[in-house]
Amino acid sequence: MSRPTRAGVSVGALAHNLAQVRRFAPGSRVWAVVKANAYGHGLAAALRGFASADGLALLEFDYAQRLREAGWNRPVLMIEGPFGPDDVALARRLSLSLVVHRPEQLDWIAEVAGHGTLHLVLKLNSGMNRLGLRDESLRAAFERASRLPGVASVGLMTHFANADLPGGAVDALAMFRRATDGLAGERSLANSAAIVDLPQAHADWVRPGIMLYGASPFADRSAASIGLRPAMTLASALIAVQSLAPGEALGYGSTFVAPTAMRVGIVACGYADGYPRHAPTGTPIAVDGVRTRTLGRVAMDMLTVDLGPVPDADPGTPVELWGATVPVDEVAAAAGTIGYELLCAVAPRVPLEIVD
Ligand SMILES: *Cc1c(COP(=O)(O)O)cnc(C)c1O
Repeated sequence: MSRPTRAGVSVGALAHNLAQVRRFAPGSRVWAVVKANAYGHGLAAALRGFASADGLALLEFDYAQRLREAGWNRPVLMIEGPFGPDDVALARRLSLSLVVHRPEQLDWIAEVAGHGTLHLVLKLNSGMNRLGLRDESLRAAFERASRLPGVASVGLMTHFANADLPGGAVDALAMFRRATDGLAGERSLANSAAIVDLPQAHADWVRPGIMLYGASPFADRSAASIGLRPAMTLASALIAVQSLAPGEALGYGSTFVAPTAMRVGIVACGYADGYPRHAPTGTPIAVDGVRTRTLGRVAMDMLTVDLGPVPDADPGTPVELWGATVPVDEVAAAAGTIGYELLCAVAPRVPLEIVD
């Protein structure tokens, strides 16, 4: 028997969540966002779950190459564009679409001639103030991009800073409309939160990420409440059981002391697997399908659970760290972060297993 820790990835859930995106945005094509190794789920599962997506979007050129090698021949959008001139050559060779968020990227595109046509997407800074052209320089960039040799199309996009807050993207949407008024080209604005909450922003292409993986883009709404299914189950098992006497302490720092006699289980999962170390006592977890809580500090390779609600649990009993019984968003909330971070942080030592 090998270490029981693994991440099961459901292709059926990925496909279901893509279908849910299409129900929210029936008139739009879908860039399925697969950056960060498909939010920790692996490209192999993503390629199967998103087989019917109109395009895939990511920012890592080495992973884009893997998508092409795996046979994906529909569009691939590089959402941070080229990081240097070499990326332009690769983009031409692999027929990747490039976001352009600063003028130097157009210089590289002009310099690196070659075979193959390029599709460009100009990015407007609509208030995030991270990447993107200011509205006053967008038109000049659009005209320049449209005249570059070997450029087949120029689209327009922006990325919202606050689409997860009520009304949070309304001003940014208005700015985008003003800045792009009268320009030709396909538009893409909506991330998961805007797909659910801002139909006016759906436009030609939507760009869902987190919702495809079955987690919520909102702090105050569950993924289930917007019709999503968790794609990842982070699973392990008990590898030991301890009976504590009242007053006995648990783990590093002895931060948990048993108030009464209690049985606790040692789970083969820790922060070196990507489970958050800052998850406090009381973080939800499931043992044998029954919800219970973590106790004490999360260690590198192990954490501890309360077996009070599961008195028959023994070494070997299965544990769900997150998945269908314990939504990743609940674990994230307990640990003071968001589901996105936990999914992306699943460590390379955890095998990814496609489960259907
Ligand atoms: C990550 C990302 C998305 C997806 O965002 P979600 O909140 O995960 O839906 C969309 N567009 C861009 C540019 C991104 O970087």
